[in-house]
Amino acid sequence: MLEGMNRRSFLELGVAAGAAAVAPRWIKAQAGPTPSLAEMKAQGSGMVAQARAAALNMPIKTTKLYNNVYLLQGAGGNMALQTGPEGNILIDSSFATAVPRILEAIGALGKNPADALINTHWHFDHTDGNQGLHAAGFTIFAHSKTRERLSTAQTMKMFHTTLPPAPPEALPAITFDDALHAWHNGDSLDLVHFDPAHTDTDIYIHFHKADVLHLGDIFFNGMYPFIDEGTGGSIGGMIGAGERALAVAGESTKIIPGHGPLGSKADLRRFHDMLAAVRDKAASLKASGASEEEAVAKKPTAEFDAAWAKGMLSGDVFAGLVYRTL
Ligand SMILES: [Zn+2]
Repeated sequence: MLEGMNRRSFLELGVAAGAAAVAPRWIKAQAGPTPSLAEMKAQGSGMVAQARAAALNMPIKTTKLYNNVYLLQGAGGNMALQTGPEGNILIDSSFATAVPRILEAIGALGKNPADALINTHWHFDHTDGNQGLHAAGFTIFAHSKTRERLSTAQTMKMFHTTLPPAPPEALPAITFDDALHAWHNGDSLDLVHFDPAHTDTDIYIHFHKADVLHLGDIFFNGMYPFIDEGTGGSIGGMIGAGERALAVAGESTKIIPGHGPLGSKADLRRFHDMLAAVRDKAASLKASGASEEEAVAKKPTAEFDAAWAKGMLSGDVFAGLVYRTL
């Protein structure tokens, strides 16, 4: 239903729906009862409008991680900011409706000019603010496939949603395939592509001196992750990306997940070990001939649900995702 709408009417739909809209739980990935897949499907095509409406008034929380590096958390994916006289670098852009509050939060930290906005991957809750932040002076950097995917309509089957192509100003202007290195505001940064994991567009950003690592959505801290099977995501890719990130992180590295609270290497290791354990259980069920339905009914996530079924995905929904992407 969203196909063919232009960005403006799309945005107005979000704002107009604001009064009555209730934020779907996946936006904040809060602790609490997990919605069933049926509930998520029912939110379906209204998901984007609801997310934008909810983001309109959600405050941005700023946490200092290093002299000039901050974690910004509001609606959508976690953001990071490096400030300095050479210009501000922002990682991820939340929702279009959050842009004024993002700019306020940045402005509260000084008067440095806008410089670069880096997208960790193509998903809407990390890139919808691109257009507004580009208008505020940021040049957008991302993996080349992020630009490709944002340039065309993308369907997210699990949510029954088709996202329209982003307008030209929202597209990354500078893209790379494997890695990009930058020296900026007294620090050096690595931007490195993961093999397909959560999507086929994921990168990490590592600030060496600050020792801050933004992992995007290859890390959901404390909850089952969404894996976008329609755009290259798989459980094996998530586990591989986790191993790669564990090799990059030191014991005191501050690790920013795409969703959830700031994490440590120990948190990332727990997440990785949970993914590997669920993968092994689902794989042995599949190898013994179980259908997806039968495998899910055997509850391969049972021992983990109390700790991890706190975000957008229940154990059963996550088990289905794992089974399908083995
Ligand atoms: Zn994502």
